Amino acid sequence: MFKFSPAFEAPTGSPIRELFKYLSQPGMISFAGGYPASDLFDREGLEAAAARASQQTALCLQYGPTDGLAILKDQLAQLMSRRGTPCTPQELLVTTGSQQGFDLLLRVLVAPGDTVLVEQPAYPATLQALKLQQADVVTVPVDHDGLDVAALAALLEAGTLSQTPKLLYTVPTFANPTGATLSLERRLALLKLAAQHRFLIVEDDPYGDLRFSGTALPSLLALSAQVPGSRDWVVHFSSLSKIVAPGLRVGWTIAHAEILRRCVVAKQTVDLCSSPWTQAIAADYLASGALERHLPKIVDAYAVKCRALCDALDTQLAGAIAFHRPAGGMFVWARLNGGENAADYLHACIERNVMFVPGVAFYKDNTDTAALRLSFAAPGVDDIETGVQRMKQALERA
Ligand code: PMP
Repeated sequence: MFKFSPAFEAPTGSPIRELFKYLSQPGMISFAGGYPASDLFDREGLEAAAARASQQTALCLQYGPTDGLAILKDQLAQLMSRRGTPCTPQELLVTTGSQQGFDLLLRVLVAPGDTVLVEQPAYPATLQALKLQQADVVTVPVDHDGLDVAALAALLEAGTLSQTPKLLYTVPTFANPTGATLSLERRLALLKLAAQHRFLIVEDDPYGDLRFSGTALPSLLALSAQVPGSRDWVVHFSSLSKIVAPGLRVGWTIAHAEILRRCVVAKQTVDLCSSPWTQAIAADYLASGALERHLPKIVDAYAVKCRALCDALDTQLAGAIAFHRPAGGMFVWARLNGGENAADYLHACIERNVMFVPGVAFYKDNTDTAALRLSFAAPGVDDIETGVQRMKQALERA
């Protein structure tokens, strides 16, 4: 009856959000969503920040600047410096979650048919956004050290791409879904390729602060200072969702001024500005030093949960499942050794009140049927152990 725009004629929703309906099943233990643990939110710190921020009525209740409240931009620039990726507040755009940052970037950069490179497996909302933008998505494989930069170099040099890619999307630190982290050597090689072939690297970094073992690596944006000609070719996204609370919907984009200026124009028609109320709360929260006080508690708790999940998989599902222990983040990427189909296995698991995301959700062409993503962030340690026992029972009867 209606004449929809081509991208929305037969849209498919997020495969992960499709699973939400099972969350309300009584007793369900979910390894599915990338949700932070609700009991680890800094309720006290956020309540205090909200109470103080609410005093500034005009700031909180009025429309704000499209690029973000100045007090928040200052705090985010300071946070980036503490992370070893200094930037000025002017280089930074506040967005309604980093998800919006990617959407704005696509609007200003990618026309239908443009080539875009994506690591595979990839964060599904990225694949979905690219599909809606009608981009020509070309995938690059990943391994335990993150994006396979040698495969990318081979692809760029083979001359088989119909055009120079507009951008390459990657989550280089504790990736969603693989948990992998791009090695330093590969980071430098990737920056060189971007400068040489003139494509943008989109560095999505919501998980970098959640490191529980090993030493931190510099972001691609920070490293770009060492690789001549590469700085302009890096766009960096980050977010308070995984380290403070996703309900704030505070993300940010750091990019070349020419890109950022256009993203601001695009944002004007999307939401005029991100909520000044939650921006003011976030600014106060960061200025109070609460993040530095609270973050170690989150990281320690995730370290314990990650160990609990990996130990349980090792003992309960030894031989049946293969995986790598991540050094941070929220995810374990696993593979069924017996060639079982993870989507069928999920149904058997849902019957036993445990769920995960089948790996196909992270592939452009749904090719990898044996993989699955498990998030250890939300459930408690006891539930993690019970959940893996249920997975074992489901596999035995599959
Ligand atoms: N990028 C990645 C890799 C993510 O996993 C997520 C959230 N799951 C986002 C972006 C979006 O985060 P935000 O809440 O900041 O929009």
